[in-house]
Amino acid sequence: MSHRIIGLLGGMSWESSAVYYRLVNEAVRDRLGGYHSARCLMWSFDFAEIEALQHADRWDLAAAAMIEAARRLERGGADLLVICTNTMHRLADEVQAAVALPLLHIADPTAARIRASGRRVIGLLGTAFTMEQDFYKGRLAARHGLEVLVPDAEDRALVHRVIYEELVQGRVLPASREAYRAVIARLVARGAEVVILGCTEIMLLVRPEDSAVPLFDTTAIHAEAAVAWALSGGAPQADA
Ligand code: GLU
Repeated sequence: MSHRIIGLLGGMSWESSAVYYRLVNEAVRDRLGGYHSARCLMWSFDFAEIEALQHADRWDLAAAAMIEAARRLERGGADLLVICTNTMHRLADEVQAAVALPLLHIADPTAARIRASGRRVIGLLGTAFTMEQDFYKGRLAARHGLEVLVPDAEDRALVHRVIYEELVQGRVLPASREAYRAVIARLVARGAEVVILGCTEIMLLVRPEDSAVPLFDTTAIHAEAAVAWALSGGAPQADA
C-alpha cells in the first residue's frame, strides 16, 4: 500500500521537528504494523534565520522564506503540508495560497480533540506571538467556539523567554518546569478546564503531572492528525 507523503516544514526548532519525525513514524507503525513507517519529506530551516525575522517583526520576509520552503516540499512530491510550529501558523494563509498542497492547520485537530473532551475554556501557552496575536486565539474562538485564556503579561514574558532561551536550544531546566507549573495553576484558578501546549517544544518540559487539568500537546496531536490524513483516501482530516 502506498500512503500519502507528509511534507514537514521544520527546523522551528529542530528539537521539536525531531519529535514530529519520531511521532509520525510511530503512528504509521501503530496503524499498519510490521515494517511500516511514514513516507515523509522534511525541510528544516536554520532557526537563527527565522528567529531573527520574528523578533525584527519582518513577517513579510518570514512569509517569503516559508513559501519558498513549502514549494521545495511540493516539488519534492509531498501530498500534505505540516508546519511544525504553532507560531509560524501566523503565515498559514499566505503559505496555503502559494501552494496547491493542502495545509493541515495545527489549531484545528487540537480544537477538535478539546471539543470531543467536552471542555470549552482553555488556557493557552505558547510564544508571545501565539498568546498575544489573533491568528491562533481567533481561530480557536471563531472556528471552534472555544474560550481562550492567556497568562498575564508577566507570565507571558516568562513562558516566551523559556521557549527561546532554553527549549529551542535543547535546554530543559527543572526551575523552568516549576515556573510553568505555577503559570498553569494560575490559568486553572482563573477557570481553564484544559491547557493547550501551543508551542511545539513545551512538551519537552511539561508533563501531564505538572497540571491539574488535561494538557493538549499540539506536537503529538498535529503529528497524529497528519498520519490519519496520509493513510486515509480523502482530504485532510482537521477533526482527526
Ligand atoms: N516551535 C515553537 C512554536 O510552536 C516556537 C518556535 C517558533 O517560533 O517557531 O510556536
